[in-house]
Amino acid sequence: MIFYPKFYCQKVTDISVEYLRKNNIKAIILDVDNTLLDFDLNIISGLEEWYNEIKINNIKCIILSNSNKEKKIKMVADLLNIPFIKFATKPLKRGFKKAQKILGEKSQNIAVVGDQIFTDVIGANRSKMFSILVKPVASKDLWMTRFKRPLENLIIKKYLKSR
Ligand SMILES: [Mg+2]
Repeated sequence: MIFYPKFYCQKVTDISVEYLRKNNIKAIILDVDNTLLDFDLNIISGLEEWYNEIKINNIKCIILSNSNKEKKIKMVADLLNIPFIKFATKPLKRGFKKAQKILGEKSQNIAVVGDQIFTDVIGANRSKMFSILVKPVASKDLWMTRFKRPLENLIIKKYLKSR
């Protein structure tokens, strides 16, 4: 199902190295807004500790954001010292392909983590990557995102029932 993630959890820091290893994940594509940052641009707690654990286990990360606000994305990328791609046009495949090239891994060995079904999950599934949906960090959203949330919640409900 193109709308369903392979894995669904509360937040990115809940994704363990063990789980990634078990699923042959060698690299991660990370969303920024509402995944690593809340609406007020606060970085989620425990992110650096989580990333250190990922890094020492040789799992590569890259940020793939639909936003064109470079300063915001770069702040997170610099904190973790990882590359980033802005204005990614998710769910189109081209941003994922670009990220994959930088990561240098096969699509089945790449996980995509994000809070939106219509950009992150669909884009990951279409790119044959391992989709991980997280709950949005903030309750506040951009108006366009807010418009999509009720439909997303309906899909998540169906997804949880289907497992
Ligand atoms: Mg997001």
